[in-house]
Amino acid sequence: MNLLVTGGYGFIGSAFIREALNKNKVNKLVNLDCLTYAANHDSLAEVEDDHRYIFRKGDIRKYENVYDAFYAHDITHVAHFAAETHVDNSIEGPRAFVETNIIGTFNLLECAKKFKIKRFHHISTDEVYGQLGKTGKFSPSSPYDPQNPYSATKASSDFLVRSYGHTFSVNYTISNCSNNYGPFQNNEKFIPVVIESLLRGDKVPVYGKGNNVRDWIYVDDHAQAVWKILTRGKRGETYLVGANNERTNLQIVKSICEILNLNPEESIQFVKDRAGHDFRYAIDASKTKEELKWVPKKSFEAGLKETIKWYTKNQTEE
Ligand code: NAD
Repeated sequence: MNLLVTGGYGFIGSAFIREALNKNKVNKLVNLDCLTYAANHDSLAEVEDDHRYIFRKGDIRKYENVYDAFYAHDITHVAHFAAETHVDNSIEGPRAFVETNIIGTFNLLECAKKFKIKRFHHISTDEVYGQLGKTGKFSPSSPYDPQNPYSATKASSDFLVRSYGHTFSVNYTISNCSNNYGPFQNNEKFIPVVIESLLRGDKVPVYGKGNNVRDWIYVDDHAQAVWKILTRGKRGETYLVGANNERTNLQIVKSICEILNLNPEESIQFVKDRAGHDFRYAIDASKTKEELKWVPKKSFEAGLKETIKWYTKNQTEE
């Protein structure tokens, strides 16, 4: 396959590229990324010498950048990760989210249609389903109910992908995944913020009372699921990806304090809650596990220890 990966210098896209380049099926892997603040060059250092890997600096908001990538490399498959991803930024400035997450996806779909590619895999989020109460889990048939500009733009892109499948016969799959953690995540996101604050000796800012619940998955487990869905998922299907690790934000901070031998009582500063903060997300990934024989391999405890070790070695300079 000649695989186009969008947003390949991002946190999950780079984990996916490292995974995909282990596979013989990949003849060529083109990483199309415009290198926003979220891109991290170090994340692909280990694959840059692979003769199958090609980096193209390009912006998915520009149709010609997308068209040129499809045309130049005879693209047969797409794994679409590129997005604006930080909910807080979407509240401060939603325009970039509309432009990249919706218009960018539209440009890719137009090319997927024009070049009649074999598979368009769209990476989405569980946040499109809105929030859960204390019980229940999201499944592929959960109704969409996005609550913030980030999740609204991701929901729009999911619907656009489905419409291109239905109307223009684009061969697509979609995955909606829960919160990822692991090495190379941008230090604006929750787990890196907690680790880096504690390593600096600062207090950790925790929204509200820290009771919001997220379902955490190690980034390499997500990357492996995406590979399986891209290559073996059924046309037109949606797959949920999660590892059954529900934790409140407060529990996460306490676990990290414990690993770093710090007293949580002295390490937390509660701050004003995020506007429209979703209470709880949880994933039922049984369809993905059963159909594709995928299982998340990393336990939360082991993944968290490895992540802390990585940030300790690669701490951001203040
Ligand atoms: P990220 O913010 O770490 O990286 C995004 C990457 O996309 C960066 O390399 C950036 O330079 C690139 N990019 C942004 N706008 C672009 C544009 N206009 N043109 C080309 N490249 C552009 O993102 P992430 O956390 O790795 O998330 C990847 C995907 O996974 C997103 O679609 C996101 O919605 C989805 N997702 C993320 C999570 C999570 O926990 N991080 C969970 C579920 C789903």
